[in-house]
Amino acid sequence: MSFLLTCPNCGTREVTDFGFGGEASTRPASRPSARELNTYIYFRRNAAGVQREWWHHRSGCRAWFLAERDTRTNHVIWTALPADAPAGQTPA
Ligand SMILES: [Zn+2]
Repeated sequence: MSFLLTCPNCGTREVTDFGFGGEASTRPASRPSARELNTYIYFRRNAAGVQREWWHHRSGCRAWFLAERDTRTNHVIWTALPADAPAGQTPA
């Protein structure tokens, strides 16, 4: 499995330049229940489709950034630094 990913700072590179940081998720409320906290820490959607993810430019500028990627095809729809990421949730 190989595909290209675009670092917002450095440009397009092989995915082997990057570290996968997992699915982007929303933090629970300031005082979550044990169930909410457990779900936030341990459960992932593992979507077969488009999901928002964290990536780290391990072999480059070392920046963390967000990407939306289709997990079925590895097609990357966009990448952006957190401050520049489009608002809204990833479609289910
Ligand atoms: Zn970079």
